[in-house]
Amino acid sequence: MQLKLEGRRAVVCGASRGIGRAIAGVLADMGASLTLVARDESALAAVAARLPGGAAQHGIRAVDFLDTAAVSRAFADIAGEGPVHVLVNNTGGPAAGPVFEARPEEFADAFRQHVLAAQLAAQALVPGMRKSKYGRIINIISTSVKEPIPGLGVSNTIRAAMASWAKTLSRELAPAGITVNNVLPGFTSTERLDYLFRQRAEKSGGDIEEIERAALAQVPTGRFARPEEIAWAVGFLASPQAAYINGINVPVDGGRMASL
Ligand code: NAD
Repeated sequence: MQLKLEGRRAVVCGASRGIGRAIAGVLADMGASLTLVARDESALAAVAARLPGGAAQHGIRAVDFLDTAAVSRAFADIAGEGPVHVLVNNTGGPAAGPVFEARPEEFADAFRQHVLAAQLAAQALVPGMRKSKYGRIINIISTSVKEPIPGLGVSNTIRAAMASWAKTLSRELAPAGITVNNVLPGFTSTERLDYLFRQRAEKSGGDIEEIERAALAQVPTGRFARPEEIAWAVGFLASPQAAYINGINVPVDGGRMASL
């Protein structure tokens, strides 16, 4: 089976590092032309330059997803450059902490950064997908959609909202040949995971290596994921071969979750 996206255009959000950067690499390897989106223009330019095809084939757009008006402008501009066939919604995870202690603004910011940004991106790009009769919207969320993770109060709440948004949208857009799916990473070696371990160590006064070992012990596969392992699942969902997979959550967690 050959998974190809030649002649297709993809937008990858949160592409300056971690899982988003790995997704950019996989989609570019499949032949897509990309627009990379995140806050840091120079980091995005460095990622684009290292992709197959380089800066000549891939564009960048710096925007902060907390700035809803700027997000609207950015996706209108991207849509104006021609049809986009694959949209990967991905951005930084909310700060860790108990849900009871979370301030209202933390929920509002996380909703803006995750759900509103994804909604505006979809509204801007779906007309081009409809015209092309090819559309894939893939959301990077978290296993907390299925099993809320202690100490990630705002994140758990917002991921559930994203998953419900995606499921609803998947049924609305399916007749147009557009699929909407969620990829749920397990523990994946990125700066986000480092941050979460540091936070846990600071809160508990515990040793960071011990915290890492305890996390590893939860993963039957016995290791953390490489960002590419999340990206390969995204590559498959973006491909023509995945046309009949719609409205689902795909955990990529090494078997960590106990539930089905
Ligand atoms: P990361 O923090 O390494 O990268 C996040 C990306 O989003 C970066 O490109 C960053 O610049 C961008 N971003 C952050 N805030 C932004 C904003 N306000 N506007 C625009 N772009 C912004 O995270 P990651 O580990 O690659 O994870 C990606 C997503 O998957 C996150 O939502 C994360 O919480 C989730 N996730 C990660 C893990 C893990 O173990 N790494 C596990 C489950 C879920």
